[in-house]
Amino acid sequence: MGKFGLADEALVSIWVCRKCKARNRAGAEKCRKCGSRYMRVKRKEARVKK
Ligand SMILES: [Zn+2]
Repeated sequence: MGKFGLADEALVSIWVCRKCKARNRAGAEKCRKCGSRYMRVKRKEARVKK
């Protein structure tokens, strides 16, 4: 957690449905839109540029 603490938290607390790509709250058992349980956490780390 760096200087973007708030933004980090906002990103981490979003899960994205892999079926319909709806955003759901972290901890949701299933997608609120399509009911799928196939969700992933939105990417936490910003990509490191090299
Ligand atoms: Zn869905």
